Amino acid sequence: MKAIVWQGANRVGVETVPDPTLLLPTDAIVRVTSTAICGSDLHLLDGVIPSMEKGDILGHEFMGEVVEVGRDVRRLKVGDRVVVPFNISCGVCDPCRRGLFSACDNSNPNHRMAEALYGGVSGGGLFGYSHMYGGYAGGQAQYVRVPFADVGPHKIESDLRDEQVLFLTDIFPTGYQAAEQCGIVPGRDVVAVFGAGPVGQFAARSAQMLGAAHVIVIDRVPERLAMAEAAGCQVINYEQEDVLVALRESTGGRGPDHVIDAVGMEAHGHGPGALVDTAKQRLKLSFDRITALRWALLSCAKGGTVSLPGVYGGLIDKVPMGAAFAKGLTFKMGQTHTHRHIAPLLSRIEAGEIDPSFVITHRASLDDAPELYKTFRDKQGGCIKVVLNPWA
Ligand code: NAD
Ligand code: ZN
Repeated sequence: MKAIVWQGANRVGVETVPDPTLLLPTDAIVRVTSTAICGSDLHLLDGVIPSMEKGDILGHEFMGEVVEVGRDVRRLKVGDRVVVPFNISCGVCDPCRRGLFSACDNSNPNHRMAEALYGGVSGGGLFGYSHMYGGYAGGQAQYVRVPFADVGPHKIESDLRDEQVLFLTDIFPTGYQAAEQCGIVPGRDVVAVFGAGPVGQFAARSAQMLGAAHVIVIDRVPERLAMAEAAGCQVINYEQEDVLVALRESTGGRGPDHVIDAVGMEAHGHGPGALVDTAKQRLKLSFDRITALRWALLSCAKGGTVSLPGVYGGLIDKVPMGAAFAKGLTFKMGQTHTHRHIAPLLSRIEAGEIDPSFVITHRASLDDAPELYKTFRDKQGGCIKVVLNPWA
């Protein structure tokens, strides 16, 4: 089959690789009909996540048709159309039972690898996301093996198009969880979202769905700000305005009640400036790149929540903890517990509350993916979200 594989820092390619097979009785094989490139893939692309191996298949946002099931799979059958959460979860361990699906104890045999590489412990397994997260082959491919097939995949039984449900695999739940965990008081609270990438777009719209009185989105890319503005958000271009002053002025001096950091540790984006030689330099660079996190902590109103869907790893230096302490802020962060959001968010899509396809700017085949990784990384040509058809 055809797949997108990691070939080294800043090199992805299309290769012909063996088709996946069932390895465990609880596995299914899915024929991928749509898959997407995520901001999280950029951390792999530039080599910031240090446990990729050449030939690893990328991709964690995908959906498709079940073509084979292991003998212990009960809920799925061949022919089912499914969206698959980017996290792999067993469904029965203590974290899974508590709804903390991304912290599954049983899906990542390598979870201690992060300790040596990165100064932490990584959570459960992820599709297409390095050996630190289990080394599972990803879904930017024609077929993918899906472990714990009775737990993750969610059947789509309505006639919604792939593009309307694909983002239930990650960025819609991620943006939604980021907003939900702020505890927004409907009709009262102002929410600021740093980063108008795909995650920021869904965080902003989710804050609106949850009743935020006003949503302010901060970025520097005009097309991304325009997309947020079209949804009724106020926007701030941080290259043109002093962000902290603008946020204070927009909130009667108190600051946004909650702040979402949908940027993560490469706060100045990827692109040529991000290219450095060694893993050590890369980590050093990432420590210097937490502007959005600093702005979030400095701007947030007293008693507010700073919610971090943006990815952080390793050690982060020069965090204004004094401001956070003085204002009594709450931090919420982590990988999204995608499984628990799929059914309720699918209901919202079916009810016409939101059509997630608004975020798509580029549609392409797997053959075009290597070029589009760069277009997406460099935010060229108005690129916000790329969807790939593995059979085109
Ligand atoms: P993206 O790279 O397309 O978007 C990031 C945006 O942040 C860009 O538009 C960039 O211009 C903007 N930006 C950079 N520095 C900024 C600053 N200082 N202030 C304001 N904006 C700034 O990525 P994405 O797909 O939207 O993902 C965003 C983050 O969310 C990434 O870190 C990604 O890994 C993470 N993510 C986390 C989860 C999770 O489970 N928590 C899931 C998916 C993605
Ligand atoms: Zn993703």
